[in-house]
Amino acid sequence: MLFNEITASSLVKVGFDGLPLSPIDHDVNPAGFTIHRAIHLACPDAVCVLHTHTVAGVAVASLDAGLQPVNQWALQFHNRVAYHEYEGIALDLDERGRLIADLGKYKVMILRNHGGLLTVGAKIAEAFILMMNLDRACAVSRSPSSRPDSPCASSAKPSAKRPRGNM
Ligand SMILES: [Zn+2]
Repeated sequence: MLFNEITASSLVKVGFDGLPLSPIDHDVNPAGFTIHRAIHLACPDAVCVLHTHTVAGVAVASLDAGLQPVNQWALQFHNRVAYHEYEGIALDLDERGRLIADLGKYKVMILRNHGGLLTVGAKIAEAFILMMNLDRACAVSRSPSSRPDSPCASSAKPSAKRPRGNM
């Protein structure tokens, strides 16, 4: 099935046990739900958990330094991004505790080497906007013109005011 063929009725609903809530014609990828289940179980306010493997997100997740405050999109996430170290394909249920501990109070997480970006929202729109801006920040950060000594980097102090408009 292609992405442009997917409709709301073709989405699979699964319970916290990972089993489909209604009959389906195909299997559910358990690794695809492990991360989501962990966050939904631990965070009652997490109405929506998004997880992507975009090229830009994979690139930044593969860097030791992670996301750097070298552009205005990235500034939105300065000191607001959690990181989780790679533990292999997300099938180990023991990883859930470490994942939740790493997420902590944040709504944005980069899964190192896994190559994933993850956002959490009290609404679908919140998680989506965070993901869109995080992916943009990653895309621009990995461009050859990114400068670690840029004015954005020097203004990214913990006391810097939160930029308006994009979050
Ligand atoms: Zn993933």
